[in-house]
Amino acid sequence: MARLHNLGFPRVGKKRELKFAVESYWAGNITQTQLLAQGETIREENWALQASAGVELLPVGDFAWYDHVLATSLLVGAIPERHRKACGSVDLDTLFRIGRGRAPTGCACAASEMTKWFNTNYHYIVPELSCDQQFQLTWSELFEQVEQAQKLGHQAKAVLVGPVTYLYLAKCAGQEFDKLSLLEKLLPVYQQVLAKLALQGVEWVQIDEPILTLELTQEYRDALKVSCSALAGQGVKLLLASYFDSVSDYYTDIASYPVEGVHFDCVTSDVDMLKLDSLLSSAQVLSLGVVDGRNIWRTDLETTYAKIKNIAAKRGDNLWLAPSCSLLHTPVDLEQEQELDNELRAWLAFAKQKGQELALLKATLISHDISALQSYCAPIKARLTSKSVNNLTVQQRVSALMVADGQRNSAFTQRIAKQRAALNLPLLPTTTIGSFAQTHTIRQARRDFKAGKLSTLQYQLQMAAEIRYAVKEQEALDLDVLVHGEAERNDMVEYFGELLEGFAFTQFGWVQSYGTRCVKPPVIWGDVSREKPMTIEWIHYAQSLTDKKMKGMLTGPVTLLFWSFTRDDLDKATIAKQIALALRDEVLDLQNAGIKIIQIDEPAFREGMPLKVSQWQAYLEWAAYAFRVSASGVKDETQIHTHMCYAEFNDIIAAIANMDADVITIETSRSNMELLDAFEGVAYPNDIGPGVYDIHTPNVPDIQWIKTLIHKAARKIPVERLWVNPDCGLKTRGWEETRQALDNMVKAAKELRAEL
Ligand code: GLN
Ligand code: ZN
Repeated sequence: MARLHNLGFPRVGKKRELKFAVESYWAGNITQTQLLAQGETIREENWALQASAGVELLPVGDFAWYDHVLATSLLVGAIPERHRKACGSVDLDTLFRIGRGRAPTGCACAASEMTKWFNTNYHYIVPELSCDQQFQLTWSELFEQVEQAQKLGHQAKAVLVGPVTYLYLAKCAGQEFDKLSLLEKLLPVYQQVLAKLALQGVEWVQIDEPILTLELTQEYRDALKVSCSALAGQGVKLLLASYFDSVSDYYTDIASYPVEGVHFDCVTSDVDMLKLDSLLSSAQVLSLGVVDGRNIWRTDLETTYAKIKNIAAKRGDNLWLAPSCSLLHTPVDLEQEQELDNELRAWLAFAKQKGQELALLKATLISHDISALQSYCAPIKARLTSKSVNNLTVQQRVSALMVADGQRNSAFTQRIAKQRAALNLPLLPTTTIGSFAQTHTIRQARRDFKAGKLSTLQYQLQMAAEIRYAVKEQEALDLDVLVHGEAERNDMVEYFGELLEGFAFTQFGWVQSYGTRCVKPPVIWGDVSREKPMTIEWIHYAQSLTDKKMKGMLTGPVTLLFWSFTRDDLDKATIAKQIALALRDEVLDLQNAGIKIIQIDEPAFREGMPLKVSQWQAYLEWAAYAFRVSASGVKDETQIHTHMCYAEFNDIIAAIANMDADVITIETSRSNMELLDAFEGVAYPNDIGPGVYDIHTPNVPDIQWIKTLIHKAARKIPVERLWVNPDCGLKTRGWEETRQALDNMVKAAKELRAEL
């Protein structure tokens, strides 16, 4: 009968134990031996959690101190030259040095880059490979972990990032070359790994090749075949796994791989399970990822059961059931949550509960008695009609949306003329992206307020004092467009989530973002609406302190959506429209309160892009529309800004232009204004504020440097359309360095104005 397995489990621990242990090690508070012991405990707990939930084959190799792609680099000995030279032997500190540029045992070296793992919010460390790269089996952790799992009596399935995906994700160190040319050198190391695992008695090895969900060139398709053939016959059985999207374009390729089993994600796209069944021989294992590994909702097991029961009867042991992908992207255990609304709780399943879901499904496949399934799924049915979810007014408003609701009254050229007259700003106006230092005092006040030690009034007075301080500083710096500084916001998503209906918050719903950094995304669980204004009092107060223009500051619909766990009972475009309508009301209230410039941040705009290029257009259409709905209620004179963090813009510039913000501020300084190329000429007609200094370091840029960058920008964009601002918000920078940097920025702009 069907077997249950997991592709991976959250490694951070129920209460983020891994994060705290690694950070204590970095701070020198615990020894490496203590850290290793802590890792062992976390793995032991994770396996126990999965086993007790009912999962039979447990993943080993999913644990990582920092990142599993980085762990793979160490496994195959791909250590960047500078780290090899600096550190001699390869150990845990080498790993931390590659990840973050330094380790407790001295010797700092530039960290490797990190970037997003497919379309998730998890970031991996990009392998750096040279054209003469050598690989060798270097890191023995995987084998030690297998031994640990076996000693505990578990059936261990080793998990490896597949060789082709590994090469695909790598970057060329030095000059460009064909990364696939390294495959023949890499495969022998993988073969060695498999042979060693076989000696340890490991029966199954899961080879993750998620690049199968992308649109691949023939070279990559060939490489996957070559790789599978080379890895076959090493004494272990291979389960080839892909996830995050459909692989239907490569069904025939997959069917031809000499592997003992294949795992398919059956959640992210509508797959025809009968087709999958027919694809593989009866001797092969078909693994169906039927539980969503990336979201937190209960699975509709009744429907799943109906879909798979015939396949299960036919395939017997050769049908495996699993979550769609590694559970890395979900929190660990719902049982820890003490404060969730009971109705909502009954709709949720975190990593541990997902294992229990699989067990329930298997039990039903054996007994054919669906009563337990029915009671498990009853809350899901109740959810469809729940009053907490459904808000008729919101639904009607979304249905009534027209094309015109996403259009400003006039074209940009007319608007900007009116705005220039109304705002009366100098050439090269200076501004910032929104936040100023989130100081210890501010955070302490918020903690005290949440703990009931500060009254609402006391807290508000303190935040008001912070805002006043930020305004006075900006006046002294002589910036042209001021911001209130966002002192009252813990986080740009959480702040709005807490004020909007339809959002909920967990206590322990942490997921790893990168290294030891975790995020706790809000849960969008119902139709989103705004009960009352969210920012007006603060912005209005800030404006009352100055004669200069105060910029209102909001987080955009696309970012609020993608930085949350979203509903699985409503499509993303509709959720985005709901949020957009709530924000539209806020934008109008800001305008009515006399605010003439309103910024709607969309740093996650690019993040929402589907994996397949063929699906980009549809996404970009609705995402830009949602943004415009939030922005388009205002009169021509009101200036709408947006902000996006460092991102490649080349391939989406038309969509960015389609957002039709009057001004966009972007991160460009680290690229030396090169990112601005995408905005040249007719590609982007509106105003632009290319960041003139990097806010990620405390270094203060000098006036000349900033002027050089603005000169460079002015060669690409007419100077009338340029704004001058830092790359991003300043919440992580201290006041002292911020003051100096902004002073230089304002001086640079003034000197240039005088020269023009
Ligand atoms: N307004 C936000 C800030 O300044 C923007 C942050 C972001 O781009 N991620 O903090
Ligand atoms: Zn930013």
